[in-house]
This record gives sequence, structure tokens and C-alpha cells, in this order.
Amino acid sequence: MDDTMDKLATPSPGETVLSMANQELIQENRVLREQMRSFLKQAHDNQAIMSRHQNFNLELIGASSFRELIETIFSTLASSSDLDVVSLTLIDRQNNLRGILQDLSFELSDFPRLMFVANEAELALPADTREKPALGLYSAQKHASFFSTCPKKPMSIALVPLFKQNRLIGCLNLGSFNATRFSDNMATDFIQQMGFIIATCLENVINHERLTYIGLTDPLTNVSNRRNVERRMLEEIARARRQQYSIACMYLDIDFFKQVNDQYGHQSGDDVLKEVASRIKAELRLSDTLGRFGGEEFVVLLVNTDLQAAAQVAERIRLSIASTPFFLSMSGVCNSTISIGIAALSENENHGDADAIAAELLWKADRALYDAKEQGRNRVCLSK
Ligand code: GH3
Ligand code: MG
Ligand code: MG
Repeated sequence: MDDTMDKLATPSPGETVLSMANQELIQENRVLREQMRSFLKQAHDNQAIMSRHQNFNLELIGASSFRELIETIFSTLASSSDLDVVSLTLIDRQNNLRGILQDLSFELSDFPRLMFVANEAELALPADTREKPALGLYSAQKHASFFSTCPKKPMSIALVPLFKQNRLIGCLNLGSFNATRFSDNMATDFIQQMGFIIATCLENVINHERLTYIGLTDPLTNVSNRRNVERRMLEEIARARRQQYSIACMYLDIDFFKQVNDQYGHQSGDDVLKEVASRIKAELRLSDTLGRFGGEEFVVLLVNTDLQAAAQVAERIRLSIASTPFFLSMSGVCNSTISIGIAALSENENHGDADAIAAELLWKADRALYDAKEQGRNRVCLSK
């Protein structure tokens, strides 16, 4: 019995070797299990990242307006990719896009991190960024313009050029407060692919906004068409109601316009129409709406304006048309005048059905215009 106990307590040399090998195996096993756990965690994390990116891509593709897309880029991309700074610079030749967005009531000031440049030279992408995104440490000298509206500058950055059919349309600017987040030896395929998706989606929504704009614009004079004025009227009536101010409406009609066509030809009539629209516009604020209502008739909607203030604006418009001759593209000049009727909607009258209010406001302005014609034309009449 004692003998057996002894045997159990003291291992033979062979047993000692086996036990050591066992220990090693256990240790190796532990290391392998650790590694496996770490790989699994990595796989989990990667899957979570992939799924966040997939959701981001779906959100991008689903954006139906410029505003929605920009919001997705600035908010979802920043959170899904854990970025501290995201800004976007778009190439906008001759303010074309900004003009359209403004006409469609897009408030550019709502998006300070959305920037515009006039051309590729002004964008000033670092050399060789045309081929692939530029990743690395932030340099104030090289990168300040891409993050100029971000209060705290990033430590490392990725500048992602946005191409649509080989044409540079802008640059997506990503930044991190972590200096090692982006470095120039990192693979860029993933970021490049994201840039491609964003460029495609941007082009899509911009085209969509352009089409909307075309549908709301008079092609001859480039001011709003009747549909747009009617739409804006309802919006402005609602806003005036909320913010408790008055709005005014002008109905304008060029005097004896038929004679311009008869005497100088239809093309000259068109020249006068265009110039009249631009002279009216020059007297208005950005927040006012000018529309061509038909033939030689225009309507202006003035926000936060009462009847007397509108009368002063109308008088300036009347004078700017009557006092300066119109140069005609077919050669020659002609004189023209305009008659204007005005009505206002004060804050205490602004209740009830907005459609009915809009129709009445227009009707009153039209009736005042009729008075102006009756009284001899080239004058401003106020609704009684
Ligand atoms: P009133 O002082 O009473 O307003 O006289 P008027 O001649 O301006 O008014 P009328 O309604 O008799 O004529 C409007 C003219 O506007 C007739 C039409 O040929 C012309 N017109 C309408 N649309 C266009 C356009 O797009 N281009 C040109 N050139 N003429 C247009
Ligand atoms: Mg008319
Ligand atoms: Mg007329």
C-alpha cells in the first residue's frame, strides 16, 4: 500500500518529461485560444464596421435631395466611421449650383462645413491626389483650406477626390484628432470606393435639384415661373403667420407691350422682357420672390414688408424701367414703362385657409394694377 503511494507521489523520469510536455501543450493551447479569441473579436469588430458602412451606403443611395445627402455625409459618416471632422468642398463654376440651391430655399448657412470653390485650381488638391486619396498628418500649410470652417483642426487627414466620369467635382475631407488614424502607407481602396459612391450620389441629387429648378423657372427670363410663385406664396404665408410679420404682393404689367412686338419684332420683345425681369430683381432683396406670371406680367412677393414699404420698392422699379432705354440685340433702343398694383397681408389678417388668402392677395394686387392702367399707366397703385 505504502509502496503504491510512493509511486504516485514521486514521478518516474519518463513521467516528468510527459508532464512538462503536457504543460507546454497547455500553455500553447492557452496562447492559441487567446489568439482565436482575438481573431474572433477582430472578425466581430470588422463585421460591425462593415455593417455600419453598409448602412451608411444605403442611406447615401436612399437620399432623395441634396439636403438629405449632405446631412447623411456630415452626420452618419462621422459617426459610422468614428471621424472627428468631416467637410466637403464642391467645385461650383460661376455659382451655378449655389444659385439653384438658393432659389430652391436651401440655406447654405445651415451647413458651414459645405464649401464651394470656382474651379479645380482653387480646390488645390495636393499633388498625386488625382490618382488616389491623400492620407497623412495634417499640415496647416497644405490642408487648411479643406478644414477652414472646422473650429478644431484634425491631427491626421484623408482627402478623398470625388470624380464623376473622370471629371473632378470636389473633395471629401476626413479628419481625426488621432495622429495615427490616417497615414500615407495605408491602403486606400476602401476610402476610394466610398469616394466613388459619394460622387455618384452627389451627381444624382444635384441633377435632381437641377430638374426641379428647371420645372420652377421661366426659361426666357430665368425668374420663377407661375407654379413656383404660387408654391412660394403658400410657404411665405405660413412663415409670416409663424413669425408674425406682414407680406406684400406686387402685380406688374408692362405698358403697351404689344406695340414693342409690333414695332421692333418678337425677338426685341423678348429682350425687353429679360431686361425688365433683371431690373425688377435688382431692386429686391434675396428673400423676395420674383416670378413671371404669364406674357408680360410679373408678380413679386416681399417678405416682412408692409404696404408703404412695398410702395417705395415699386416706385424704384417703375423708375428704373421708365428712366433708362432698353438696348435691343437686333440693334436699336426702345423705351418702356410698367404699371404696378400692390396689396399687403398684415399679421392680424393672416389666418384661415392659406390657399384662399393667397388667391385674395393676388386678386387685390391685380385689381390695384387695373387701377394703375385706368389712371394712365406708368404708375403704382395700392389696394384699397
Ligand atoms: P397694356 O398696357 O394694357 O398692358 O397693353 P399691352 O399691349 O401690354 O397688353 P396686351 O395684353 O394687349 O399685350 C400683351 C402682349 O404681350 C401680347 C403678346 O404678344 C405679348 N407677349 C406675351 N408673351 C410674350 C413673349 O414671351 N415674348 C414676346 N416678345 N411677347 C410676348
Ligand atoms: Mg398683360
Ligand atoms: Mg401689358
